[in-house]
Parts: sequence; C-alpha cells; structure tokens
Amino acid sequence: MKDCIFCKIGSGEIPCLKVFEDEMTLAFMDIAKDVDGHILVIPKAHYKNILDCEPDALSAVAATVKKVSLHLTENCGYEGVNLLNASEECAGQSVPHFHIHIIPRKSKDGIDGWPHFDGAKEDIRTVFEKVRM
Ligand code: AMP
Ligand code: ZN
Repeated sequence: MKDCIFCKIGSGEIPCLKVFEDEMTLAFMDIAKDVDGHILVIPKAHYKNILDCEPDALSAVAATVKKVSLHLTENCGYEGVNLLNASEECAGQSVPHFHIHIIPRKSKDGIDGWPHFDGAKEDIRTVFEKVRM
C-alpha cells in the first residue's frame, strides 16, 4: 500500500534490521529502543490489523512469530516471550499495518511486559452475555 511504512519495509524499499524473512512475512527489530530485543513480525501484504487480515496471512504471521520465539528461547538465552498487538487506534495501534510485537523475556529481567488495568467496571456476567458467541 502506498505511503505505508511497513509495506515499504516488507518490500525492502526502506531498510530494517531483518531477523527473519520468508515469502509472506518479515521479522525485524523495532526501532523504539524501549526494551532489549523488541521484534516486530508483519505480513508482507498490507492489512491494517487482525480485523481485516486474511486467514492465510494470519497463519503465516503466527508461524513466523512461533519460529522467532523458538529461536529466541533455544538459541539466544531468553526463556520466554510476551506477544503484543494493538488493533485499531482505540487499542493503541500507531502503525496501520498489521504487526505482532515480540518481547523476549528472562526471569527477573525487570521488564514490565503486561498492561496494568484499572479494574473491571462492568459485572462479568453482563459482559459475558454481550460477548458470548
Ligand atoms: P503499534 O503502536 O503497536 O502500532 O507499534 C508500532 C511500532 O512500530 C512501534 O513500537 C514503533 O517503534 C515501531 N516502528 C515504527 N517505525 C518503525 C521502523 N521504521 N522500523 C522499525 N520499527 C518501527
Ligand atoms: Zn502496509
């Protein structure tokens, strides 16, 4: 997609620190410098987020997330990962091309890798009736 920074990274038009690549996906270092080893996995095709991502591309992204996560834990000295995704602006998505964040973790690494929620405001059964499928 024109003017999409992650499409340009996926096609090689904009350089990145490439961790892994296959036909449909790319894993590269996030430039945020917020936590050691922060990696993004994207489909090369443009989707805004999980809501419009086609099943094949989603499966390919999931397979690459797993491959990179296994590499981090088996070969790089990490013990686990946090996987993060924001889909839509209301959820905090800032780059409108689907991506999964991988945050490599070690015991006692001091990283705060999970959001701190304020506490549920609605009754769990009320929400359950709304969201059950
Ligand atoms: P999100 O807020 O979930 O949409 O995350 C977007 C992420 O993209 C942020 O963590 C940014 O640091 C990262 N980012 C933006 N531009 C680039 C870039 N050119 N190369 C690598 N990471 C980027
Ligand atoms: Zn794109």
